[in-house]
Amino acid sequence: MEAIIAEAAAAGPVSKRVVRARVKVGDLRQIVPDTLQFAYETLTKDTCADSSVLEIVRAPATGVCALCAWEGELQGPVIGFICAKCGAIEGKLTGGRELFLESIEVVDNE
Ligand SMILES: [Zn+2]
Repeated sequence: MEAIIAEAAAAGPVSKRVVRARVKVGDLRQIVPDTLQFAYETLTKDTCADSSVLEIVRAPATGVCALCAWEGELQGPVIGFICAKCGAIEGKLTGGRELFLESIEVVDNE
């Protein structure tokens, strides 16, 4: 949230405000969208991002198998790498840990 406010401030004079923020959240982050939404609304209240829309973009958990080279989206509740093709646990998680501000939309204040 601090990043959103800081970015809005850096975007120009105080006469700007944030209308929309897009945040990428990986499936492995175990973040409940409703909780994030609530936290966002609470933390941005009375700031330049007050009443802005928080858009949560899901980033699926993905991985690459070290044995058969299968690459793709992991299914179910992911706790570690399990190959969907050969069942090996030797692999690398390549996605799903994301948690960052992807973009913000800023407009001039009336
Ligand atoms: Zn495999």
